[in-house]
Amino acid sequence: MDTVALPPLMPGTLYLVATPIGNLEDITLRALRVLRECDVVAAEDTRRSGQLLKHFGISRPLLSYFQFNEARRSEEIIERLRHGAKVALVTDAGSPGISDPGERVVKAAIAAGLRVESVVGPCALVGALTASGLPTDEFHFVGFLPHKSGQRRNRLAALQSVPGTLVFYESPYRIEKLLGELAEAYPTRDVVLARELTKKFEEFLRGKPADLQAITAKRSLKGEFVVLVAGADATAIPRTKAPPPDEEPEAEDGEEPLAGV
Ligand code: SAM
Repeated sequence: MDTVALPPLMPGTLYLVATPIGNLEDITLRALRVLRECDVVAAEDTRRSGQLLKHFGISRPLLSYFQFNEARRSEEIIERLRHGAKVALVTDAGSPGISDPGERVVKAAIAAGLRVESVVGPCALVGALTASGLPTDEFHFVGFLPHKSGQRRNRLAALQSVPGTLVFYESPYRIEKLLGELAEAYPTRDVVLARELTKKFEEFLRGKPADLQAITAKRSLKGEFVVLVAGADATAIPRTKAPPPDEEPEAEDGEEPLAGV
């Protein structure tokens, strides 16, 4: 891996800083430096982000930037950037803009010809997908479904033909409801519940929707969830099926077939 001498922060830049989704050890060295050296931290919840900064011994001015003041605050942030400020944007957890505020100010900054940098790091979607065991080569991030039952059903129906792994965020209060909906819409698909990622009680539960319903009927699942559903193509071709005994798997060009696959 290349090590690069880190340049100082660039004036007039919006830094999108990913923060831990549970385990504070997941903050990156770059995130800490940006938070330490920026002029202001725009935060979804200033109290919560203030605690995070305090934990790492950082003290910077905080500015609230959340769903209901995004429009007004975006303009203010753009003005600060135009005057050369270095602004870090953080949300309560994970990557800004992923089911979290961020998109609006990013668009405004780009439209104003300002620099936007992503300080990459934790994101529940990536953590869940990569350890799920479902195909990662193509996926479709749905995020949160609407709250209303009819709208949820329609959205799930519209996703039926999407070929890649489907990735949902869901609140603990609706996880059983979602499993019921998946049992109706996708009864034969492999589903993975990624619970409490990076935290003490992290676990991955795998099975068909009905298997997972059986688990939630026995113990109530608490915490935060990412729900992954095998894509339309994945169930049609069972990937775990062993080849017939007298048939070797076909090798890709220039690749030895793996024994026992
Ligand atoms: N911006 C965040 C990200 O990069 O993942 C997501 C924020 S969204 C408001 C919160 C949702 O993300 C939760 O309801 C849950 O679906 C998912 N999530 C966040 N942290 C999680 C964790 N530690 N384990 C499982 N899911 C998590």
